[in-house]
Amino acid sequence: MEQMGSKVQLGPSSAEECAYQEAGFAKILATLSSANTIAICAHTSPDGDALGSQLALAQIVQKLWPSAEVRVLLADERPAPHIYSFLPGFERLEMPSTYEGDPDVFVAVDLSDPRRLHEARPICERADKVVVIDHHPPVEGFGDAKVVRTGAAAVGVIIAELALHAKVDLTPDIAQSLMCAIVTDTGRFQYQNADGEAFRVASLLVDHGASPSQISLNVYESFGLAFLHLKSLVLGRITTFEKGRIAYSYATQSDFERTGANLDECDGLIDAVRSVEGSQIALFLKAVPGGKVRGNLRSKGIHDVSRVATMLGGGGHRAAAGFTFEGSVDEALVAVLPSLRKLLHEQDVCDDGQCLDEAKEGAQ
Ligand code: 5GP
Ligand code: MN
Repeated sequence: MEQMGSKVQLGPSSAEECAYQEAGFAKILATLSSANTIAICAHTSPDGDALGSQLALAQIVQKLWPSAEVRVLLADERPAPHIYSFLPGFERLEMPSTYEGDPDVFVAVDLSDPRRLHEARPICERADKVVVIDHHPPVEGFGDAKVVRTGAAAVGVIIAELALHAKVDLTPDIAQSLMCAIVTDTGRFQYQNADGEAFRVASLLVDHGASPSQISLNVYESFGLAFLHLKSLVLGRITTFEKGRIAYSYATQSDFERTGANLDECDGLIDAVRSVEGSQIALFLKAVPGGKVRGNLRSKGIHDVSRVATMLGGGGHRAAAGFTFEGSVDEALVAVLPSLRKLLHEQDVCDDGQCLDEAKEGAQ
């Protein structure tokens, strides 16, 4: 894929993945071309990649088929996190209960497991055809047309390449949403998944009007005081064990009550936990409504934290995974910490280089 007459090649680095993606794009576009009604939905508790990718895709699809009805759905019956309200088209996001029809095509973005559609899942089940665009490990049988590339740093990367494939102009609005997707899923280009492809696509997006400074200001530098007070509690109780190689912290229901912090603001707290020097595995737990706990897991190296998340009914990638636990923070700690210790020791045995290679392949 080439753009603007430049010599920079965009797309996956291997010829095999390129061929897979091009064939997938052709099938996705053929599926969408015959649709009058299209619903685009990302995963429950959406992050910057989920929202940026679905909003950009909605604009791309609308440019290709101006007469189609394109709706942008949330998976949950609650508003999207306010920090992303600067994204162009944010006001188009609808809660699933507002969608009563049966879409010709339902596009699932940034998820491969239909359970992650949460309250929007019935809409997907009512659709004539399902398209999946994702970078999580694929689930067999989900999607009539799909591109699922676990090697892509963000779904935003794949959507940008879809726009190029379909010869849709990258407007500043599309570029900004896609840039937000890539910036957030690569942890500002600091995670292991920040590869050449992510940088090349990001460079193209900036050339087309994306503003990294606006993204940074909104997503990383606009915290309410209540959140910062909660963060200070979380920082104050970071604990390490296994010679500092596992770090964890948590936020309880009473922490939220005491500080007045909003649950949706807390996505970045795992990054504070993983920043501990020498830590290889990080865990952050937060109490959520319904007597449950959300867990975020991160690995800096060879340890595949998705194994622990999957065991707990969640999932994700090798370097970043999550789960929901029924019970209190204390109970969750009792359930998760021994598994992390086991993971650390099991995967230590292959410190001979073989696992390190696998780790590079499987970053977020
Ligand atoms: P986070 O910790 O930021 O919520 O999620 C990290 C990664 O794991 C993301 O790619 C996210 O999509 C995935 N993930 C988080 N929670 C779950 C879950 O409950 N189930 C599955 N399948 N994936 C999850
Ligand atoms: Mn993603």
